[in-house]
Amino acid sequence: MYYDTHAHLNADNYQGNLQKIINEARDHKVKYLNVVGFNPKTNRLANQIALNNANIYATCGLHPSEVQNFTNKDLADLESYLKQDITVAVGECGLDYHWHKETKMIQFEFFEKQIKLAKKYQKPLIIHVRDAINDSYEILKETSSDGLLKGVMHCFSGSKEMAVKFLDLGLYLSLGGPVTFKNAIVPKEVAKIVPLDKLIIETDCPYLAPHPYRGKENKPSYLPIIATEIAKIKGISVEEVAYYTTENGKKLFKIL
Ligand SMILES: [Zn+2]
Repeated sequence: MYYDTHAHLNADNYQGNLQKIINEARDHKVKYLNVVGFNPKTNRLANQIALNNANIYATCGLHPSEVQNFTNKDLADLESYLKQDITVAVGECGLDYHWHKETKMIQFEFFEKQIKLAKKYQKPLIIHVRDAINDSYEILKETSSDGLLKGVMHCFSGSKEMAVKFLDLGLYLSLGGPVTFKNAIVPKEVAKIVPLDKLIIETDCPYLAPHPYRGKENKPSYLPIIATEIAKIKGISVEEVAYYTTENGKKLFKIL
């Protein structure tokens, strides 16, 4: 069985056919799933979907690419979600300079506030980083010094050298569709070196569909394709990848 630790079943794409997508995931042995929120609307939907479906959990966060729209009320609402057991993580949150470098200072503020909330409620962070790996590392290094920081670098796209640095902070690494892309040298190098007890996997659907569906709409039932590629790279069986990544996910997100 598998754990898709990062799926946006709260995206508009699925609102007409959610049950079909979930059933398809089950048919492909994806037993556990996190619906990842990124703004007030998707946080609310993540909670709803999780409450209505067994073994599906919500995560709630405020995404760096939309910080210009967020208010203190949104942070207060986020905190109220974190008080509920069905919400298993804070995120996705982080830094993203790809589209909005000009909001850098507000991004820092929201990231740091969410790190504080994660510690307060003892829930792991789901960390999004795009074109901001050094600043993200500095913030995480500083805030991890008390030993309370837990979390995962979602769809990790950094080098193997950076991977080692984030692993040293005690964070997990999550790999998704890009590891299957033909020209993806760096994610394949990372897959090779990440220890089996620190690896989790994700689809990040509807984005980043694995090969041969690259560019099409992604869905959780494609998760075994990603596991199969990682198994090939690591020279182990797909069952081992499924076992370890599911156990790691259950441990990180405290799923009993
Ligand atoms: Zn995502």
